[in-house]
Amino acid sequence: MSTVLVLIHHDDGIIRKPSLELLTLARRLGEPAAVVHGGAGEALIDALGRYGVTTVYSITPPEPPSYRPMVEALALADLAASTAPAAVLVSSGPGGTEVAARVAVRLDAGIITGAVDVTTGPDGPVVTQSVFAGGWFTESRVRRGTPVITVRPNAVTAEPAPEPAHAAVRTVTAEPVSAAVPRVVASRAKAATGRPGLADATVVVAGGRGAGSAEGFAVIERLADALGGAVGASRAATDLTWCPHDLQIGQTGKTVAPQLYLAGGISGAIQHRAGMQGSRTIVAINKDPKAPIFQIADFGVVGDLHTVVPALIDEIRKRRG
Ligand code: FAD
Repeated sequence: MSTVLVLIHHDDGIIRKPSLELLTLARRLGEPAAVVHGGAGEALIDALGRYGVTTVYSITPPEPPSYRPMVEALALADLAASTAPAAVLVSSGPGGTEVAARVAVRLDAGIITGAVDVTTGPDGPVVTQSVFAGGWFTESRVRRGTPVITVRPNAVTAEPAPEPAHAAVRTVTAEPVSAAVPRVVASRAKAATGRPGLADATVVVAGGRGAGSAEGFAVIERLADALGGAVGASRAATDLTWCPHDLQIGQTGKTVAPQLYLAGGISGAIQHRAGMQGSRTIVAINKDPKAPIFQIADFGVVGDLHTVVPALIDEIRKRRG
C-alpha cells in the first residue's frame, strides 16, 4: 500500500484537530506517514499510532529560529521526493497553503487546494472541492507528479483507526534555511481570549450585522463564553471591524462544523452558509422571520438578539448554578 505524507501540527504534543482529520482522510488513501516539526515525544507518537500512523518523520532541530513553513516545506518536499507517496496532505489555511505551494513548486507537481473530500481513483486521488459558495462540487485530480492537496478543516470527522498502529520514528535533519528565509518569527503569543479556536471548537457563537455595533457584538462574545465556545462572525460584522477578520466564517472566511452553531443577527447569505452549513445543530436568532438562515436552522428564535441572548446567558448561568 502506498504511503500518504501528512503534515502534522501540534501544541506541545497535543495534535491539532485539523491534523487528526487529515490522518483520518489519509487512511482512506493509503498508509499515513506523519511529518512532525517540533519534536515527536512518546505521547505524540502514541497518539499518531492511534490514528493509524506507521511512520513518523520527526524534523529536527525542533524549533529552529527561522520561518516554520519554509522548514516544513523543504522537509516535506525532500521526503516526498525520496518516498514517492500517493499524496501529500496539508491542512488549508494561510500557513498550510504556503507550505503546500512551496512543496508543489519544489516537486514540480500539481496542487489542489481547499479539498472537502479526497477519495481513491484508478489514476490517483480524486479531490472534491466545494465551489460557488457550496452550491456545486467539483472533482479533480493531479496529472503531474505527487499530488499535493490542502484539505479544509472540519471537512472530515476525525476518527481513530479501528486498529492502532505502532509508529516507527525516523529523524529528518532539516536543511538550514535561514539564509533564504524572508521572515523570522521572533516570538509566539497565545490568543489572549482563552476561547477555543474556530477550527477546534465544538460550540461556535457567531454574530452578524444584526448585532448593531461593536458594543452590541459583545453580547455574542458573552454567550460564547457562557457556553465555552468560539466566537465567529459574518463578513458584514468583520468588515464593520466589530471583530477581527480571522473570525469570519464563510466562502471567503473559515469553514466550521461544530456540534452547535448559534447565529445571532446573521441573515444567512449563501456565502456565509458555505462556511457553516455542515454544523451538527444550527440555532438562529433573528428578528426577521423570513431571514434565510431559518431555512437551514434546526431551532430558530424570532426576536431581537439584544433581548434573547442576555436571557439565554442568564438561563445558562442559572442551570449551571
Ligand atoms: P445582513 O445580511 O445585513 O443581515 C443582518 C441580519 O440581522 C438580518 O437578517 C436582520 O433581520 C437581522 N437583525 C437585525 N437586527 C437584529 C436584531 N436586533 N436582532 C436579531 N436579528 C437582527 N459573508 C460571510 O458571512 N462570509 C463570507 O465568507 C462571505 N464571503 C463573500 C464572498 C463574496 C464573493 C461575496 C460577494 C459576499 C460574501 N459575503 C460573505 C457577504 C454575504 O453576501 C453577506 O453580505 C453577509 O454574509 C451578510 O452578513 P450579515 O448576515 O451579518 O448581514
